[in-house]
Amino acid sequence: MSLWRNAVLAVAGRPAVERLVRRHGMGLARRFIAGETLEEALAAVHRLEEDGVHAILDVLGEMVTGEAMARAFAEEIKKTVRAFAALPYPRYVSVKLTQLGLDTSEALAKELLEEILALAKEGGVFVRIDMEDSPRVDKTLAVYRAMREAGFENVGIVLQAYLKRSQADLEALLPYRPNVRVVKGAYAEPPEVAYPDLPTIRAKFKALVEKNLRAGNPTAIATHDDALLHWAKDWTREREIPRERYEFQFLYGVRPALQKKTAREGYTTRAYVPFGKSWYPYFSRRIAERPENALFVLRGLLKR
Ligand SMILES: Cc1cc2nc3c(=O)[nH]c(=O)nc-3n(C[C@H](O)[C@H](O)[C@H](O)COP(=O)(O)OP(=O)(O)OC[C@H]3O[C@@H](n4cnc5c(N)ncnc54)[C@H](O)[C@@H]3O)c2cc1C
Repeated sequence: MSLWRNAVLAVAGRPAVERLVRRHGMGLARRFIAGETLEEALAAVHRLEEDGVHAILDVLGEMVTGEAMARAFAEEIKKTVRAFAALPYPRYVSVKLTQLGLDTSEALAKELLEEILALAKEGGVFVRIDMEDSPRVDKTLAVYRAMREAGFENVGIVLQAYLKRSQADLEALLPYRPNVRVVKGAYAEPPEVAYPDLPTIRAKFKALVEKNLRAGNPTAIATHDDALLHWAKDWTREREIPRERYEFQFLYGVRPALQKKTAREGYTTRAYVPFGKSWYPYFSRRIAERPENALFVLRGLLKR
């Protein structure tokens, strides 16, 4: 699994491949991305809500270098928060700290995130800080803690089951009563820091969900993996964990029928809806998750 992912991400990271895929435009990426504009993203929110699925809006962008670009992304996110706050639905956005300049300066990322959180709080919007690759985990956790210490409650964090450190990270976060999204992890990581095999990753995923729920904390179970979804439904039912405490989260365009079904079963269900011009890195990670997706892109490119 990790071999395949690392190989695809290495190929996708080559500038020539990026140029080729970008040249053929959004067509190929449309399956996973709501569009390039906020209007297209809001249209996707309405469509999802018709099926009982709530949206998590994500302005695409990451690994930003330079303060001006980080500030420009922060403005776009604030525009999204304002637009979302005007809708009659549960409101929720995801942000990446490298989009807010984390690689330039932690202080800049904190300043921009604080502005976003303050605006989001006014509009009743929850903000999830996505987790990026392993060299950025310490800084991401530090910024999350700083926001909680500054009094923000409308913010959550992500832990990746494939990282060997994540169990200890959760333990250290428990005093904050964190709202945690548990995911498998989507980046190319070396075996020193990440488990490479699916059975271990699944076991670690379960351990994170169990621990956060047993501690009484809100938990987002973010996976399309039937084995984990069945387990989570059984485990929470057997232990009578109230449904308000957990929810299921999916990615826009991945198993949409399952998303609708989960909502119909009465679980809080959200879809992560990415949009914007900087779609290439996100698209590459989705392609790397499944061999079929890589073939789909290859076929699309060959047709052209
Ligand atoms: C809401 C949400 C937020 C996320 N946030 C983060 C984050 O902050 N940081 C991070 O590192 N990762 C994040 N991820 C990605 C996550 O780490 C995994 O890479 C991704 O969810 C694939 O793993 P899986 O458990 O869903 O399923 P897999 O075990 O990969 O797949 C299970 C089944 O789901 C379907 N499926 C899964 N992925 C795809 C796909 N791309 N295309 C088509 N079908 C697919 C297939 O039917 C597959 O057989 C997020 C995922 C979700 C759902």
